[in-house]
Amino acid sequence: MISIKSKSDIEKMLEAGKIAGHALNVVEQKLRPGMTTKDIDKIVFHEITSHGGIPNFLGLYGFPGSACVSVNEEVIHGIPGNRVINEGDIVSVDLGARYKGWNSDTCYTFPVGQVAPDVKKLLEDTNASLYAGIEKAQVGARLGDISHTIEEYCRERGYGIVQDYCGHGIGKEVHEEPEVPNHGRAGHGTRLIEGMTFCIEPMINMRGDEVHVLPNKWTVVTNNGTWSAHFEHMILITANGPVIMTKR
Ligand code: MG
Repeated sequence: MISIKSKSDIEKMLEAGKIAGHALNVVEQKLRPGMTTKDIDKIVFHEITSHGGIPNFLGLYGFPGSACVSVNEEVIHGIPGNRVINEGDIVSVDLGARYKGWNSDTCYTFPVGQVAPDVKKLLEDTNASLYAGIEKAQVGARLGDISHTIEEYCRERGYGIVQDYCGHGIGKEVHEEPEVPNHGRAGHGTRLIEGMTFCIEPMINMRGDEVHVLPNKWTVVTNNGTWSAHFEHMILITANGPVIMTKR
């Protein structure tokens, strides 16, 4: 069942989205070489809780942090810890807030200082693929239209597309139906109607699709060690087009 949100549900989700977007803004302002991934997690916890939210990743399926902080070859689900962030790294910060029982979820991959030109391009292209996907999230379109658009955008540029993980519906739960893959067939899948809310989140590797989970049972890394980018927004389907609920 895909839940359809009422006006009052949407108001709370927008507030949850605002809190999450604010936390990403503060991370962006404070991110410096020499920080650890745990330092970022502390910022996220503080910013979400001091703005009336609850960090909804903390304890989700047993996850030990308020944010997933994934560096370079880490794709998603990086556990905040002692890993030191260096100049030239990229850091994906995936987080969400619960506000009055409703959730948000968003991610941005930040460059740390100067990054290599091909890495900068990976970030720009992955973010652009997210927006290309969002553009397809129109009433009457199919979920596959979003998936296919992201896939095509990234394949044309020679990147790898993570297929073992995907976007999702969101609402009272962080992860709801349906799955929103980053690859698929246009014109197929669920038809989009007003009041649906999804997280669209391309996870794009410099090369190769394959990933695996580290022995810590959480962190997903690329098989070939190439770097990976991850951008995510929570969106609302409306008659006037998609609304980004985690805008910053
Ligand atoms: Mg998500």
